[in-house]
Amino acid sequence: MQPKITVVEDEEALSVLLRYNLEAEGYDVETILRGDEADIRLQEQVPDLLILDWMLPGVSGIELCRRLRQRGATERMPIIMLTARGEESERVRGLSTGADDYVVKPFSTPELMARVRAMLRRAKPEVLSSVLKCGEIELDRDSHRVHRKSREIRLGPTEFRLLEFFMAAPGRVFSRAQLLDGVWGHDIYVDERTVDVHVGRLRKALNISNMKDVIRTVRGAGYSMES
Ligand code: CA
Repeated sequence: MQPKITVVEDEEALSVLLRYNLEAEGYDVETILRGDEADIRLQEQVPDLLILDWMLPGVSGIELCRRLRQRGATERMPIIMLTARGEESERVRGLSTGADDYVVKPFSTPELMARVRAMLRRAKPEVLSSVLKCGEIELDRDSHRVHRKSREIRLGPTEFRLLEFFMAAPGRVFSRAQLLDGVWGHDIYVDERTVDVHVGRLRKALNISNMKDVIRTVRGAGYSMES
């Protein structure tokens, strides 16, 4: 069962980006563009985690957060609030909205994904499986170990993160830009050729004793992992 995450964000481009990256991490995602709509929807269905923007049309994120905390069903639902840079985020914190965590915009995608995972691990460990499996390959997110046919594969931190990213969405084709954003984050300047270098290293590490290559190069598109 995939953990359910609801994103309430009125900036459509950001909402699309969040959906894309959360789905790539293996979550079941619902996006809502307005605070008042989210208020109604969250009375019908409670996700495992909520990502909530503070400036929203209809009902603000702050007000919505307060309302959610007053209702039994959402009293303890993990909430990550997205706030604007600078004073405003401090103000939001000061308003004691009841959110569990605050992420300041613009944020790096890998950092937000790490916070989501950390919060789910704390609040809802039962919905998170730490082991990803794809064919002969097993990746344990908690112990940071990778095995192929019960042989341990040693990977550098970037190759590990790259494999984790591929394994959360087997068969999906990722462009170099998507891999850069999901694995390195858009704040860091890395050349797209760097992606090729790390994919090459990952491939080499996984293909012990000439086993089948599980990473597919899709000409003109990017890379994907065989499902
Ligand atoms: Ca907003």
